[in-house]
Amino acid sequence: MTEQPRSSSGPAAAEAVPEVTAVSDATSNEGFLQSIMSSNPYFTAGFGLMGLGAVLAVGRQTLVRASSLAYRQLLVDLEITSKDKSYDWFLEWMSRHPARSSRNFSVETNYVEHDNGSITATFDLVPGPGRHLLKYSGAYIMVKRERSGRLMDLRMGSPFETITLTTLYRDRQIFSKMLREAQSRAQTKQQGKTVLYTSYGPEWRPFGLPRRKRSIESVVLADGVKEGLLDDMTSFLKSAQWYTDRGIPYRRGYLLYGPPGSGKTSVIQALAGHLDYNICILNLAEATLTDDRLNHLMNNVPARSLLLLEDVDSAFSNRKQSSDQGYVSGVTFSGLLNALDGVASADERIIFMTTNHPERLDPALIRPGRVDFQALLDNATPAQIHRMFTRFYNDDKLAHAFVEECIQRNKPVSTAQLQGLFVFHKDDPQGAIAAIHNM
Ligand code: ADP
Repeated sequence: MTEQPRSSSGPAAAEAVPEVTAVSDATSNEGFLQSIMSSNPYFTAGFGLMGLGAVLAVGRQTLVRASSLAYRQLLVDLEITSKDKSYDWFLEWMSRHPARSSRNFSVETNYVEHDNGSITATFDLVPGPGRHLLKYSGAYIMVKRERSGRLMDLRMGSPFETITLTTLYRDRQIFSKMLREAQSRAQTKQQGKTVLYTSYGPEWRPFGLPRRKRSIESVVLADGVKEGLLDDMTSFLKSAQWYTDRGIPYRRGYLLYGPPGSGKTSVIQALAGHLDYNICILNLAEATLTDDRLNHLMNNVPARSLLLLEDVDSAFSNRKQSSDQGYVSGVTFSGLLNALDGVASADERIIFMTTNHPERLDPALIRPGRVDFQALLDNATPAQIHRMFTRFYNDDKLAHAFVEECIQRNKPVSTAQLQGLFVFHKDDPQGAIAAIHNM
């Protein structure tokens, strides 16, 4: 029992003790901290460093802000992406610009395959990815070419790229001057030339350097064929309104057929040159060409370009045989018909098809609307032989003798064979006459 009151007052007493202890602990900790802070040199130095760090951080931030403000006020950037037309113009222009300093280059090879099979290649050292400096019209321009590691330019099938040009704000007007110069340079390079495009992934890209236009006089066809083609094209090109008024798709298809070496490709090149058009060449037998890609390409032909489908028979006529040989075209016949019929766009579309074997073509391919004009380019007629000879040797009398020899020979001869013979006997018409029997 004596323990009873103790037991009732015990807990209160027991609670009071730790409270006192806690107060006394806090007081002693504060004193301890104060004593450390005031007396411990390391602690004081820590605070000092912290303060210094904070000041530096604020200073750095202010500097960054000030420099970006100065950048915005004093400098100006121009971004050109690889999707833009001026991208290639600028790279080409810069590769020729004398006042530049570059340490990394990319090579761009252009090559032209000549009719005789020889190849001429030129190399342009264009600025590669990285930084470059150039001086233009008294202003310094920093050029930064960057390639995205992840983004792809879907049209080109190559990494997405950007070029950023930076110059002083006061010199900003030189950008447009420089781009205009790059553009006019690119265009003069193409003047009097025909650009050949080939398909690269889903887009058209120039193939080699632009070629000198082929003159229409240099192609010798049977009487009236060239004139007929030219008249038809000229009248088509004048009839945009006529087609629009009647709601007919503004397009025209041509089929040139005949033996190899009769001038089919040559006359298309000459017509393109004469009308100031470029040529987009599509090979239907290409294994990687699919219906979708064909459709996309045919509906996205660059402006002022003829579309040329060479040897249209080869992609489909021997399909079975081709697949046995392990070579199958990815394009189906119905895919080609769909692409030919295409979406009715307001843009003009001129398609040339060539074949050495018209008998192999499916009638669906050459029905009007897909092929509107057909022309046979055959082996050389006596009149063509005569004209070819006089074009090379300018001698009417010898031309008659040559035609006589060809008639006596009594074998077909193609205009390409005649050209080969005349080139071989360049300054020797008599030699050409003598050699015709050996062909
Ligand atoms: P195709 O396309 O009919 O097979 P090309 O047009 O490719 O023939 O001609 C091959 C070569 O022969 C070219 O170098 C071309 O200059 C020459 N050639 C062929 N036919 C003619 C022609 N009718 N007039 C002038 N050159 C021709």
